[in-house]
This record gives sequence, structure tokens and C-alpha cells, in this order.
Amino acid sequence: MQKKNRRLRWVLIPVIAVIILLGLIFQRAWQNEKANQGLEATKKINIVTSLAVYGEMAKAVVGNRGQVDSILTKASIDPHEYEPSVETAKQYAKAQLIISNGAGYDAWSTKFAKANQKAQKINVNQVVGYQAGDNEHFWYQPMIAKQMMQPLVDKLSSIDPASKSYFEANAKKYMATLRPLENKRNKLSVQLKGKKIMVTEPVYDNALTGLGVKNINQNFSRAIEAGNDPIPTDVLAWNDTLKQGEVAFVVNNPQAENTVTKRAVSMARQDKVPVVEVTETKPDDKNYLQWQLEILDQIEEALKS
Ligand SMILES: [Zn+2]
Repeated sequence: MQKKNRRLRWVLIPVIAVIILLGLIFQRAWQNEKANQGLEATKKINIVTSLAVYGEMAKAVVGNRGQVDSILTKASIDPHEYEPSVETAKQYAKAQLIISNGAGYDAWSTKFAKANQKAQKINVNQVVGYQAGDNEHFWYQPMIAKQMMQPLVDKLSSIDPASKSYFEANAKKYMATLRPLENKRNKLSVQLKGKKIMVTEPVYDNALTGLGVKNINQNFSRAIEAGNDPIPTDVLAWNDTLKQGEVAFVVNNPQAENTVTKRAVSMARQDKVPVVEVTETKPDDKNYLQWQLEILDQIEEALKS
């Protein structure tokens, strides 16, 4: 009997030792994990933006000192009709910096931002000096990136003052990457001076104004943006103008399409007027620079035909 017990003990001791050892290793690993999470939560600035284009600019300036979540990341949804989820509301409640477009474009974002009193906020309508009646697609204004840099540096520095010079250096670096865009704009605005165009929806109007072109059928696009059908005289004017060959190109927003705009686009194609496609939001697979250059490439191509 005693002999049997002793043998059992020899078997059990190593097994128990291994179990204890494994337990210690797991506990240590778990504690390390917890410590890391705590460190990150206190160090990384939590940024939420409604539009991915502002998210990219915030990410460029905050660098490795923060993390950015943008809500409208898919070019397949129409932001004018977006309705936020409970999950989105929670993200806004946790954010330390919130960037909203403003001017009623993303009213839900402005509302969530107001509810989070502790967060820093950038309302792009204030950055660009929006006045009632102005076109609210601010990210298409030629100077937008430059105008966003200082507010980003200021707000981020108020959250993390020790990183101010790091944020400033990042902002400079980001602006340097956008030089090809400025060059292309300058080149095209010479070619485009005085050219006439038409648009199905005014998404790109801020950029077009910067390029010096003239929208000769504003009633049409205004009606579409307001969610109405253009009146018959404006539709007729659209068709006549195309036929007269006065229009250098037509701009279409595929994210705000309906039967009227589709017909307007196919009319342009029939009359061999080039159609430039401009999405409302930044496609996920392109950065701001690639996205903007791609639109300008389409315009350049349109001028050749
Ligand atoms: Zn729009």
C-alpha cells in the first residue's frame, strides 16, 4: 500500500509543478497585456471624424500619438442620407477630438460632438468661414488641407502639449506630399479659364470655381441637390446646351444619382460630351492626393476630346 502511494506521489509532483508553472506564465502574460492596454489608452489620442477625408488629415498630423476612426468610409452610401448607429454614438462619446464638416451636412456628427463636452472639436465650416448659402462640400475647396493643418496642430497640442513640435513637423510633411496636386491645379486652371461646364449635382463646385470654369446650368444641379426634379425648362436647357457644343465637360456625382441625373448623363454621352465622375466621399482605396489627382486626370482627358 505504502509503496503504491509513493509511486503515485512521484507521478503527481511533476504534473502539479507543470500546472503551477503554466499558471504563473499565463498570469504574467495577462498582466503585461493589461499594462500595455492601460498605457495605450492614456497615451494615444482618440480622434473621430464624420468624413474619411478629414480623418486622413488628422491621422497625418497626429502620427503615432493617436488613432483615428472615420464614420463615412464607403463611397457607396450617400452621406446626405446617412443615419448614425448606436455604435457611432458610443465612438463619439469616447473621442478626445471630433471633426465634423458642419453646415448641416453631417448634423448627426455636430450633435454627438456637442453632447461630448470634454472633447476638443473642429467644425470645418468655421475653419473655412462658411456663410449661409455657400457650398458645403468644403473638402473640395482647393485650400482645405492647408487650412486644416493649424486647427489640427492647435487642438492636438492642447490635448498633448509635449508633442506640439512633432505635430507641426507632421503637418509640414503632409503639405509637402500634396505639392503635385497644387501643380496640377495650376496647370489645369490655365487651360480651363473661361470654359463652360454643367454638373448634375454641386458636389465638386468648390473645386470648379477654383479652376475658373463656369457652370452654365445651375438651376439643374440646385434642384437635384435639394432633392427635387429640375423643372422642364432646365432639363430642356441641359439638352440644348449639350447639342450646341458649348460644354467642355459634364460633372456627375455617382453617389447622388436618380433617374433624372442618369438621363442627363446619358444625354451627354450621346452628344459626345465627356463626363467627369466625382464621388461625394473619399474612396477607401485612395488617399486624398490620389483621389483629387484622379479627378483632375479625368478633366485633363476631357479637354483633349
Ligand atoms: Zn453632396
